[in-house]
Amino acid sequence: MGDATRLRDRIRELEARAAPLEPDGVERRRLLAATAEYVEGFLAGLPDRPAFESDRTTAAGIDEVGVGKRSLGIGEILGLYERAVATPALNAASAGHLAYIPGGGIYASALGDYVAAVTNEYAGVAYASPGGVAMENRVLDWMRDLVGYPDEARGNLAAGGSVANFIAVHTAREATALGARDVPDAVVYSTAHVHHCLAKALRVAGLGETVSRTVAFDDRYRMRPDALAEAIAADREAGLRPWLVLASAGTTDVGAIDPIDEIADVAEAEGLWFHVDAAYGGFFALVDSVRPKLAGMERTDSIVLDPHKTLFLPYGTGAVLVRNGDHLRNAHTYEANYMQDAVHEEGDSPADLSPELTKHFRGPRVWFPLLLHGVEPFAACLEEKIELTRYFHREVRARGFEVGPDPDLTVAMYRWVPGEGDANAFNRALARYVNEDGRVFVSTTMIDGTYVLRVAIVVFRTHLEHVDLTLQILERGVAELEAHPERWRTEPASPE
Ligand SMILES: *Cc1c(COP(=O)(O)O)cnc(C)c1O
Repeated sequence: MGDATRLRDRIRELEARAAPLEPDGVERRRLLAATAEYVEGFLAGLPDRPAFESDRTTAAGIDEVGVGKRSLGIGEILGLYERAVATPALNAASAGHLAYIPGGGIYASALGDYVAAVTNEYAGVAYASPGGVAMENRVLDWMRDLVGYPDEARGNLAAGGSVANFIAVHTAREATALGARDVPDAVVYSTAHVHHCLAKALRVAGLGETVSRTVAFDDRYRMRPDALAEAIAADREAGLRPWLVLASAGTTDVGAIDPIDEIADVAEAEGLWFHVDAAYGGFFALVDSVRPKLAGMERTDSIVLDPHKTLFLPYGTGAVLVRNGDHLRNAHTYEANYMQDAVHEEGDSPADLSPELTKHFRGPRVWFPLLLHGVEPFAACLEEKIELTRYFHREVRARGFEVGPDPDLTVAMYRWVPGEGDANAFNRALARYVNEDGRVFVSTTMIDGTYVLRVAIVVFRTHLEHVDLTLQILERGVAELEAHPERWRTEPASPE
């Protein structure tokens, strides 16, 4: 046998061994049917599933199976997924998930992801996928119009709000030509309620040594523009370089919207880059009653919205927009010899507007739902959440709880002040009571040293009955803890 023949035989043998990677049509239908069956069972059982399962032990199933030791059938894989992944801890698809800033994960996005993965579009550059890139750009144009930016604005669908904020911070730095030598004198302004991912973004961008100026907020946790102007004046006086204002449209803790229009006045007059983190609040611009509170968004230099929160997408998509698109492009465009055939005539490519080259094709997970359902159900769903939060806020107060200010968005704060004993300890025990029940899951925060519970009503599946259930559980928790002070008197008073 000649060398060439032996080589050909070897290649054919390897091809045969790799064949499972390309299942045939019959096998594909079997795999898809089994997966769809699992998903249907999951969704059908969702109303009865806890929002939080405190038994975490089943997660160990993943380690027991390991990776690469043996192959499993699709039934076994899905069974393991159900036991070890879908069951323990947080059920982020649940209507009862009222903690942090959730979203739920709409079904049409899963279909978009499925098709994107099977067709494996290369949506990093328009040369490879003019339609895929156009899809992402049109989705971003829709967000641009919602914000009120001009046509020359550009944006990017990133992996999440943190990465989107990072892209904005990097762009601000490049656009303002802030060199390494300028960093120690550059001042960044925000309130204490700005999301921690912005401090992380600054650090990752090499800007951890900028001066961080904490600006005072009003009695509703909104940045005070007068305090901002004063801080800038004092910093100029001290020879520093006021550089960047970070405002929030919907703080994670309390849902406060900073007065964007008035802050824009200050930022414009002082020549600072003005970034708004609207990861949580931005899409509420779809709700007529909230839109006025977001006035001035169109005057910012950059903004972040998080479709995996308030467009209810499954996790994995945040969006950044920059009002002057040239700044985003200049901060990210690179040329490479091996890409010389990739001509740039079909519109802006994500690769020229973000740190990524080859990337997850995120367009379909946003575009499928928006085309399938239209925008109106999203607007209605967001408005429903606003009204549910107003309802919760007044009903929890009517039951004797102390409450935070009227909610700007869909976060409400509350706590029970016990007849005697330490209120922080009581409310810590109350939060644990709610989450051990598990039907709803709430989170807590510290506001000026006070331990408070919060609900964030953002999952698209959360409706009136879930809010009523939350009120019932809270009432019962208070009654039990008031009757059994020994259950909370020994609690440490401050959070771990
Ligand atoms: C969630 C959130 C972020 C971070 O976004 P991720 O998508 O979790 O990375 C940033 N800012 C605000 C206001 C948020 O609510």
